Amino acid sequence: MKRVTVGGGGPAGAAAALAALGAGAEVEIRDRSAFPRHKVCGEFLSPEALEVLEPLGAAGRVLARKPAWMRRVRLVMGRHEKQARLEREAIGISRYALDAILLEEAQSRGASLVRGEALPLGAPAVDATGRGAHAARAGTKPGRLFGFKAHFSGPASDEVELFFWDGCYVGVNPVEDGLTNVCGLAPQARLAAVEFDVDALLQQGGDALRERLAPLTRQWEWIRTGPLVYARQRWGPERTEGVYPAGDALGFVDPFTGSGQLCALVSGRLAGLAAARGFPLHRYFGEAERLLGRAARVSGTMRRALEAGMPGWLAQFAPIGAIYSWTRPSIKL
Ligand SMILES: Cc1cc2nc3c(=O)[nH]c(=O)nc-3n(C[C@H](O)[C@H](O)[C@H](O)COP(=O)(O)OP(=O)(O)OC[C@H]3O[C@@H](n4cnc5c(N)ncnc54)[C@H](O)[C@@H]3O)c2cc1C
Repeated sequence: MKRVTVGGGGPAGAAAALAALGAGAEVEIRDRSAFPRHKVCGEFLSPEALEVLEPLGAAGRVLARKPAWMRRVRLVMGRHEKQARLEREAIGISRYALDAILLEEAQSRGASLVRGEALPLGAPAVDATGRGAHAARAGTKPGRLFGFKAHFSGPASDEVELFFWDGCYVGVNPVEDGLTNVCGLAPQARLAAVEFDVDALLQQGGDALRERLAPLTRQWEWIRTGPLVYARQRWGPERTEGVYPAGDALGFVDPFTGSGQLCALVSGRLAGLAAARGFPLHRYFGEAERLLGRAARVSGTMRRALEAGMPGWLAQFAPIGAIYSWTRPSIKL
């Protein structure tokens, strides 16, 4: 029986493990964190995730945790804002719950979960260790971005709300147990200007954000992450044959698209199959490009427009439905 090592136990690693198990491999997952654990993430899960998780046998466990459901989206850019209905209801579930659920499913099917360093990985393996591989390239530029997140109690809505200002963005959306996730990112220089006090930063985010947060009570200290680097790995002869990068390790898309976890599940599933069946690496990269290429290109274009200071009034004309669907990966294997 083939023995596949999966480095990283986030959504990409768990999907890789489930797919490799389904293809008859023996699987060991290595992660340096203990689960469950909180993670900086907007926790907006595209509904297509259930279609990826269903054949992997994990959709039922996710639904059993009773996630929140989101029906609407609200974009706020300065004084300008736009609201729309989501074509399909999206899922709000914390990474504390989701990552543990997916790993439990993999373990219940025979995968072993080992706590410890995963790198370097020997073939056959899936590298699902997240965006750390890209982070070193951020250097120490003041423009580099940092993420933050906390859960709040108080009135929850069925909306995902995105607030943009001065190179910062914050997403507010419901998760399980009636809680609200507040998660965002900001350039280092803006955080330094408020001495890395996230509450003070949010006070600068405009009236709409202040009003939204006013009735909410933070449940724990802000957790932070960074620096964030948007990057994609491409196939090249220098890659190690038999080691398949997946999830953020393959490509990190702009968080405001809310498709990072779905991309991680899609590429993780593909990488797990590739490792179990011994696909040539160039074929794996070709398939990954087919599934994820458009989402990465469109989110890259959106990010550059925002970085260039896209004026707020443009938000009124943004075709939200089209942008939403263009930033989803294809889920068809
Ligand atoms: C601010 C922010 C907001 C976001 N909001 C959303 C959102 O609303 N919706 C959405 O879908 N996506 C969102 N994303 C993106 C999403 O979080 C990622 O795309 C997703 O976590 C990728 O999953 P992954 O499994 O590839 O990596 P990760 O979730 O990062 O998992 C990697 C795992 O590998 C482990 N690891 C790392 N290095 C090693 C090592 N050397 N040895 C052993 N273990 C290691 C880590 O402990 C971790 O458990 C957001 C991201 C950020 C930063």
